[in-house]
Amino acid sequence: MDCGGGLLLLLMRSIGKIETGQVLLVHTEEPSVPPDLQDWARLAGHEIVDSTAEHPQGPWRVSVRRGEAPSAQAPSAGASDDVFSRGPATPVGDRLWLYSNFHCNLACSYCCAESSPQASPRLLPLDVALAAADEFCALGGRELLVTGGEPFLHPQIHVMMTELARRLPVTLLTNAMTFHSGPRRTALQAMPRERVTLQISLDSAGPELHDHNRGLRSHAKTLAGIADARDLGFTVRIAATLHDHEADTAANLNALLDTLDIEPANRLIRPVARQGFAEHGQPVSIDTLQPELTVTADGIWWHPVAVTDPAMRLADHPLPLAPALATIRDTVAVQDAAHREGRRHVFRCV
Ligand code: SF4
Repeated sequence: MDCGGGLLLLLMRSIGKIETGQVLLVHTEEPSVPPDLQDWARLAGHEIVDSTAEHPQGPWRVSVRRGEAPSAQAPSAGASDDVFSRGPATPVGDRLWLYSNFHCNLACSYCCAESSPQASPRLLPLDVALAAADEFCALGGRELLVTGGEPFLHPQIHVMMTELARRLPVTLLTNAMTFHSGPRRTALQAMPRERVTLQISLDSAGPELHDHNRGLRSHAKTLAGIADARDLGFTVRIAATLHDHEADTAANLNALLDTLDIEPANRLIRPVARQGFAEHGQPVSIDTLQPELTVTADGIWWHPVAVTDPAMRLADHPLPLAPALATIRDTVAVQDAAHREGRRHVFRCV
């Protein structure tokens, strides 16, 4: 592993497990790492106390004494352009994302989670979801978001949503194609209206682009699902996923949403992230993604679009949340320190 491949989060996770004054020993065969560790240690408030090489070409052993981390600065809004939704950045620790499952009735061409009907479900157990929500509340969290995969394929989704909504407002991300009738409609009907928002994916006003991205006749079924959800009294937010050259698509979609009386506050246009199945789109990393704590059945991640990227894993278990949140805050503080020096990245080789 080198400084461009997830080393920063690994360092932050590792040094977070020792006390101030204790020493972390880093063993590396990458020549770029020892000089970058010097910069990281300075930015992070730590001290390199020893650096030795077994041979001139390595490997190297670098000892880092833990100091006091710098404090994080107030977050700033990310760059945007005319296609994508704007808004202030969400403060670290305000939002918790829960991946209820990874299987899906669709297999969209840009799915960052690599979901499909064949994907392993990786179900988030109900008790883990609720324990995460309880800990998040205790940590001062303000909002929950449940995503997947298609969350309506989770067999306990209505119980999960009802219990989560008792704790905090919850947004449920769905393609709205599975609850027209049967047990999933019953599950939807059982969810509380007050603190649940349904965020439904719709990429275009007409079927061509949406069906191209998401599958034949998916556009018509999603429009029917939007009508179902609104008839049942839910607040519906529409979210499109587009490329930056698709401004006309965004304009046409907004015109459709005007006719459907979806208010502007409940419209979201997100860029395709080059993650998972997406071969094109915006490249993302911990340097370009504002972190939002994200839990899956098998770990905690930097951001919900990055759950297939090992370089963005914060923990190997879904609980507890606190150490992962501390890793995020420490990493943001180091990134802030680098930015104050005029650097775009903590490590030079990113
Ligand atoms: S983008 Fe959403 S609807 Fe499409 S495959 Fe992924 S999880 Fe399913």
